[in-house]
Amino acid sequence: MTNLRSFLCLFLSVVFLLDGSKAFQQTASRWSNIGRGILGSPSISKSSATSPDLSVSSFLDVYPGTNPIPDKEQNGSRFSVKDSLGKIVRRSAVALVTLALFSNPAFAAKKVAKETVEHLHTGQKIANFFMQFGLPKWAVLSAISAMPVVELRGAIPVGIWMGMPLYQVFLICVLGNMAPIIPILFILKNEYLKKLMSPILKRAEKKASGLGVGSLEKQWVSLAAFVGIPLPGTGAWTGAMGAFLLGMPTALAISSIFAGVLAAGTIMSAITLAGRTGGLIAISVLLAFAAKELMFKDSDIAKQSFLEANPYWDQSTVPVNTYKNKAPFNGKVVSTKRIVGPKATGETCHIIIDHKGDFPFWEGQSWGVIPPGVREKDGKPHSVRLYSIASSRYGDDMSGRTGSLCVRRATYWDPVLKADDPAKKGICSNFLCDTRTGDDVQMTGPAGKVMLLPEEDPKTDYIMVATGTGIAPYRGFIRRLFVEDTPAAQAYKGQAWLFLGVANSDALLYDDEWQEIKKEYPDQFRLDYALSREQTNKAGGKMYIQDKVEEYADEIFDKLENGAHIYFCGLKGMMPGIQDMLKKVAESKGLDYDDWLKGLKAKKQWHVEVY
Ligand code: FAD
Repeated sequence: MTNLRSFLCLFLSVVFLLDGSKAFQQTASRWSNIGRGILGSPSISKSSATSPDLSVSSFLDVYPGTNPIPDKEQNGSRFSVKDSLGKIVRRSAVALVTLALFSNPAFAAKKVAKETVEHLHTGQKIANFFMQFGLPKWAVLSAISAMPVVELRGAIPVGIWMGMPLYQVFLICVLGNMAPIIPILFILKNEYLKKLMSPILKRAEKKASGLGVGSLEKQWVSLAAFVGIPLPGTGAWTGAMGAFLLGMPTALAISSIFAGVLAAGTIMSAITLAGRTGGLIAISVLLAFAAKELMFKDSDIAKQSFLEANPYWDQSTVPVNTYKNKAPFNGKVVSTKRIVGPKATGETCHIIIDHKGDFPFWEGQSWGVIPPGVREKDGKPHSVRLYSIASSRYGDDMSGRTGSLCVRRATYWDPVLKADDPAKKGICSNFLCDTRTGDDVQMTGPAGKVMLLPEEDPKTDYIMVATGTGIAPYRGFIRRLFVEDTPAAQAYKGQAWLFLGVANSDALLYDDEWQEIKKEYPDQFRLDYALSREQTNKAGGKMYIQDKVEEYADEIFDKLENGAHIYFCGLKGMMPGIQDMLKKVAESKGLDYDDWLKGLKAKKQWHVEVY
């Protein structure tokens, strides 16, 4: 009977908590995203793409200036951190009262003790260790819940085993688990301590990688779920490090982790009070939620179709210069993240900017950025710099409210001093790479129609050649063709072939994304790298982008003959080498290079954007 009561209350609490909270519903609907964080492997497919969903009403006043725009085309739901946190607090309280009323802690304590006689739980071993020094129970419990890995999930069963009342156990464990979180977030701001913690941070980054996707509110929800669903590798410690690495504002990170800790505490209390069998039921409920979301995702995930022309390939409405230099758009930085390894030549950052849906663009276009301040030489405002947009029109969170840039920090190497001269560093790229969440960015555009995808014939092959940040527009193309659920993706039957040239493997950009897509679409997506400092070309020299393209020259010429489009993007310096190579190949095939090129240009198959 006691068991039955425990199972019942366990079931009610878990379902109540997960189903009742909007935040968790939203999180669960993108389980694949959380899975990235938990399992470290994103699942990318046209149909498992995350959906547009979140219109912001407030960010606990941390992120003001974002208008609440209930987007009917998206899914009509409104999200606010304040509401979600409030709901999680209320649901946890109700679930705990339910537990306290219907369960039998004394029975559970006996059961926990009995179940662990032979195989002593780690938390209990730690508790025994502390108790031999005569520490009071509450101190032992708070120390255990403050520990990494063990955390509140390990401490709650110990508290119940000690025979303490549930409300005391819960309160002490929540406070204990939260206690190190605030110092961690501040400690990581110190460069020296950050370096010291770098091995742990690297692990945390891997575990929490999925948290980086999307706008601030999405990050809040993912982080709360990451902390709140007690699975191996998740928790408040890893969550705090993940939040730091994402550059989340501290107050936002703390509120999200707090919501997660409350949820984890409720789930753990329920599991502990219901015993081992109850634990299995709780896990089954969690898995059922996940399975439901994975299996029925199409029914509640909106497709990426709300920013399409009619028909989707009609380019007559492509927006151009919506915002001009005199009246620029004020974007807000969602996150800025270094995306190259330590041995990369230079620094490249991925910057997500919130435009609230007011700054639509198409894949292949650029945004202008006006850096703050004035020019030293004449005191006039800085001029605008262009940056190719690195996301699709739907943004990385697929809400249609953000866009991303891929920016290389321009530095000046003084050959005499043999060092960087900070006085001559690039103004705008340094401004962008130094931005933090919530910073303002003055923007113009969107600019350019040279790099658009001609989508009318879905069998068109695309050959995309990039050096460095020239990858940016192709990321938008590839997400549109393979990651999102767009009409373009559904129709696409051609092959997209990406060539990327960088100095070494640490300088590769978005490699994890390409590998996932390659795995999912091996026939439709091809990928080739030219790593100039790691590979050699057939003549034994450095492998530059033209050498890699030349390896497949016959295939590329055939594809172009059959209507493929070829794109070049990146540093200006890439084009002479490419053109020389193409000329050589054309001549070896008995073609007149100039005529051949003229033909491609006339048929709009040739696209170049270099800077
Ligand atoms: P600036 O301040 O303009 O300086 C330019 C260079 O001069 C820097 O390398 C700087 O170090 C050097 N310099 C400064 N002072 C001196 C001095 N006294 N003596 C010698 N050298 C000096 N860039 C990207 O990173 N990603 C993109 O996706 C991207 N897309 C682009 C798309 C288009 C269509 C175009 C036209 C350009 C694109 N760019 C992109 C380049 C970008 O617009 C900027 O040119 C680049 O970021 C450098 O701007 P900056 O303000 O940082 O440097």
